[in-house]
Amino acid sequence: MLELHDKYDLIIIGSGFAGLAAAIEAAEAGAEVMVLEKMKAPGGNSVISDGGIAAPGTDEQVKAGIADSAQLMYEDMIRAGEGLNYPELVKIVTEQAKETYLWSKEYLGVSYLDRVDLFGGHSVPRCHTTASVSGRDIVKKQLARLKDLKVPVLTGIYVKNFITGPDGRLDKVTIHSGYNYQKGATGPEEVLSAARGLIVASGGFGSDIAFRKAQDPRLDQAIASTNKLFATAEIIKECLALGANPVQLSRIQLFPFASPDEKGFGAGPMFGDYVVLPYGLIIDPKTAARFVNELGNRKEVAEALLNIGRPALSLTDQKGVINAGWDINRALKKGVVKTFSSLEHLADYYEINAQKLKQTVSRYNTMLGQRQDDDFQKPLLKEAAPITSPPFYAMRMWPKVHYTMGGIQIDSSARVIDANQKPIPGLFAAGEVTGGIHGACRLGSCAITESLVMGRIAGIKAVSTA
Ligand SMILES: Cc1cc2nc3c(=O)[nH]c(=O)nc-3n(C[C@H](O)[C@H](O)[C@H](O)COP(=O)(O)OP(=O)(O)OC[C@H]3O[C@@H](n4cnc5c(N)ncnc54)[C@H](O)[C@@H]3O)c2cc1C
Repeated sequence: MLELHDKYDLIIIGSGFAGLAAAIEAAEAGAEVMVLEKMKAPGGNSVISDGGIAAPGTDEQVKAGIADSAQLMYEDMIRAGEGLNYPELVKIVTEQAKETYLWSKEYLGVSYLDRVDLFGGHSVPRCHTTASVSGRDIVKKQLARLKDLKVPVLTGIYVKNFITGPDGRLDKVTIHSGYNYQKGATGPEEVLSAARGLIVASGGFGSDIAFRKAQDPRLDQAIASTNKLFATAEIIKECLALGANPVQLSRIQLFPFASPDEKGFGAGPMFGDYVVLPYGLIIDPKTAARFVNELGNRKEVAEALLNIGRPALSLTDQKGVINAGWDINRALKKGVVKTFSSLEHLADYYEINAQKLKQTVSRYNTMLGQRQDDDFQKPLLKEAAPITSPPFYAMRMWPKVHYTMGGIQIDSSARVIDANQKPIPGLFAAGEVTGGIHGACRLGSCAITESLVMGRIAGIKAVSTA
C-alpha cells in the first residue's frame, strides 16, 4: 500500500513539463496535490528534450535586434498548422509565452544560453535554449520547487483507469504500483481519490506503434522514433473511452533532421537542426541537387524527404559550424557526422556525382551572395557564409516519429471536452496529450512553451473550477 494521507484535491498523471507545471500552480494555490508517474524516474520525454523554448519579445531578442511579437508567433503557428489549429488556444500560448519563459527563469531559476535561434517555419529567431541544452534543466527546477511545496511525485505508479464519483465528477484513479516498463506492473491494484479531479499530462504516443499506425498507417515499426519507449497511448484511450473528443490524432510529426545511423533522437539533430538549417544545405545523394527549403517547417522538410524516398545528405563547412556556434563533438565522436577535407572526398565517400555536387554548392553560394534563394526561397541569414572552407561536414538524414500534434480536446481553461462540446466534470489536460494547438505541424521549440503555459493553466483552473 502507498503511504499517503487521504485528502488530496488533485491527482496529476505524468511528470513532464506539463504535469509538473500544473502541480506547482495548484500547490501554490493551496491545493493538496500528488503527481503519479509510471516510470522509475520523473520527467518523461521532457527530460530528453533539447530545452528550446519559443518566446516572443524577450530581452534576449531585443539585444540581438530581433523584432518579434505574440501576434507574429501566432501567425507563424497558424501558418505551419495550416489553419487546423484551435485559434483560441494558440492565442493563449503565444500571449503567455514570454511571461512563462520569464516564470521559468525568475520563479523556477532556470538558466538559458545567451543566444536566440531560428528554426524552420518561424519568421524570426525566438528559440531560447537552457544552459545545458536539455529539458532536464527545467524539470530539475520544477521538481525542486515541488519538494519545497511538499508535493509528492510518486514514480513507478501506472495509472490504469479513472472512476467517476456519485456527483458525476471524475475523482478517483485505479493504479498499479511497482511498475516496470519491461515487466509491467508488479504491485497491487489500488484506488486513489482526489476531490477536485484529475489532470492528464501523460504526453504523446510517438512510441505506441499500434496506436500511431491506426492513425497513420505509414508510421509502422519501420519508422524509428525520437521518443522514449514509454510514450504510449493508454491514458488517451482511457480519456476517449470516457467520452473525450479526439482531435486530429493522425497529425503526427516526423522529425526530418534525425540520422538513420543512430538510435532515438541521438546526437545528429544538433548538427541537422541547429547548424545545417541556417548554415548549410540538404541534397539528394542520387541527383546531388537540393530539393527543399532547408528552413521550411518540419512537415515540409519531412515530406520532401519521404518524396525522394531515401536518406538525404545534410552538409556544411567549417565556417557554417563556427557561425552556428554549437558544439557538434558528440555527433562527430559517434561518427554520425563525418568530416571531409574536400567536396570531392565527401562525394566519393557517399557515392555522389562530385561534379554535380560542386555545381549545387557553387549555385547555393552565389545565391547566398545575392541573399536570394531563387530555387527554394530559403530565408538566407546575413551571417551565413559561402560553403567553401574545409573541413566539410556531412550527415545522412531520415525522418523519425517525433511529436503527436493530435490528442484530446481541451478548452482555454484546460478542461477536457467531450464529443458534444461539453466539459467532462473533473477532467483537465495539458501538454502533448492534448490536440489542436499545433494543427498540421508543430514549429520547433513551441512544445515546451505550450506544455508549460497550458500546464500552469490546468493547475490553476482545476483548483478554482467548481
Ligand atoms: C528528443 C526530443 C527533443 C525535443 N526537444 C524539444 C525542444 O527543444 N523544444 C520543444 O519545444 N519541444 C521539444 N520536444 C517536444 C517536447 O519535449 C514534448 O512535447 C514535451 O516534453 C511533452 O511534455 P509533456 O509534459 O506533455 O509529456 P512528457 O514529458 O512526455 O511526460 C508525460 C509523462 O506521463 C507519464 N505517463 C504516461 N502514461 C502514464 C500512465 N498510464 N501512468 C502514469 N504515468 C504515465 C509518462 O511516463 C511521462 O513521464 C522534444 C521531444 C523529444 C522526444
